[in-house]
Amino acid sequence: MDAKDQREKIFVLDTTLRDGEQATGNSLVPSEKLEVARQLSRLKVDILEVGSPASSPGDFESARLIAQEIDGPVICALSRARQEDIDRCAQALAGAKRKRIHTGIGVSDIYIERKQYKSKDEVLKIAVEVVKHAKQYTEDVEFYAEDATRADQEFLFTILQAVIEAGATTVNIPDTIGYAIPEVYGSLISRIRERVPNIRQATLSVHCHNDLGLAVANSLAGLVNGARQVECSINGIGPRAGNASLEEVVMGISAHKDYFRFLLQIQPKELYRTSRTVAHLFGITIPRNKPIVGNNALTNNIGLHINGMMKDRLPYETINPEDIGFPQSRVILTARAGRHGLKHRLKELGYPPFSQDRLEKVYGRFMEIADRKQMIYDEDLVSIMENEVPNLSEKYTLTFLQVMNGTHAIPMATVKIKKQENGTEETVTESALGDGPVDAAYKAIDKAINFQVKLDDYTVQAVTSGAAAMAEVLVSVSKEGKKVLGHGSSTDIVEASVRAYLNGINKLVEKLAQEKRQPGENRQELVNKEEVVYREQK
Ligand code: MN
Repeated sequence: MDAKDQREKIFVLDTTLRDGEQATGNSLVPSEKLEVARQLSRLKVDILEVGSPASSPGDFESARLIAQEIDGPVICALSRARQEDIDRCAQALAGAKRKRIHTGIGVSDIYIERKQYKSKDEVLKIAVEVVKHAKQYTEDVEFYAEDATRADQEFLFTILQAVIEAGATTVNIPDTIGYAIPEVYGSLISRIRERVPNIRQATLSVHCHNDLGLAVANSLAGLVNGARQVECSINGIGPRAGNASLEEVVMGISAHKDYFRFLLQIQPKELYRTSRTVAHLFGITIPRNKPIVGNNALTNNIGLHINGMMKDRLPYETINPEDIGFPQSRVILTARAGRHGLKHRLKELGYPPFSQDRLEKVYGRFMEIADRKQMIYDEDLVSIMENEVPNLSEKYTLTFLQVMNGTHAIPMATVKIKKQENGTEETVTESALGDGPVDAAYKAIDKAINFQVKLDDYTVQAVTSGAAAMAEVLVSVSKEGKKVLGHGSSTDIVEASVRAYLNGINKLVEKLAQEKRQPGENRQELVNKEEVVYREQK
């Protein structure tokens, strides 16, 4: 190979399921985290950070499930500088083909003081101990120097040298509070390479937060100055203003191949779907003007397409939406499409092959909606797919809904709910009055299932335009301090609302059962107390 063609490999560590999920209030159930992990694996992230197993039984279980199933990326779990937490990481990761433990400690004076360590020497000693402890479980150990950008630099160099000596194979330099600016952050990375004698025995990693809107710029500056791993999240989700956005980092590098001369294994064609999946499951709306994946960023180019300006596109766009897997051709399906037609279009839209069982479920919903709506657009299909999360055990399902409503009527709803438990099945019918049709339906459900939840948030939006548009409802429901999101879609707003509510309830059932199943009772109390500390991490 020609010397000037040599490119250096950049490792991408995705922290959507750790920093991102922690920031959104840990609202995903393990089956949803697994679904995100599958998509991140198709995107080909190098390292998949799955959570902090010691922080809650749910985090432990999802890490365990992902470690068992996903075998492309290295599966990484985060731990504070505590040996028993590292032990939990190791237990959760036991099934992984390749595993990494990511541990660390605050290194700035502010963090050392706030976490009540006696001295820098004590911090150094603990850092070395925990790295050695993690090393018993896996060769691949990452150390994070929390709040590195505000730390005394001489101390930072000393602690990095010590943890590399103790066996850390990656050292992470987080800009924990999103305070850095590109030139200064870049020169910090460069100084670390000059001043830490054994730095070449480890991979340098950047982990930037977006409080000043500079997370991506800082990350790129770090890479230019010698870091070879970048930590980021899909849609930039994370605490406060978020983390560096994976899609922006990746497309920034790929738009400037000649400048960066890096090699990435990420598959950009999976970016659009990954962004959609994460936005949906985390219940966030992507701003229209969000770089790379926002609607305006994508559709401006479509306008040019339609105008037949294909040849002249280059002057108008930096990113071609096709490159990130944004579907270009529009197809309208009707009820006559059949299973084969549906399967074919889903494949064209980039969905991976799925089981016959799941196809039947999706086809059932497709036919119900096609009956009412006649023309099914791609957006409708995506909505159907997103609302059929596989692996979720459904204790309660809706079999009948009737609503009476009008300007001079008191809204009344009747529901039939099928309840499945331990192989038995029973159907309960209940009616209720309410302030509006949705309220009446929710009250009827509450009576039918006798499992009270708190409805914290309710939003509705149209997926496609026109009177026969599909409505998508998102609810946030909680019980016993646990929160989940419920999704539902239908051409009928009340039905979509009921589906969302039941979806949330089924997830809460799963989540609460999870907490009770885990070994090591009395952890919950401990977890609640320490959750605050956890959220502050990194
Ligand atoms: Mn972070």
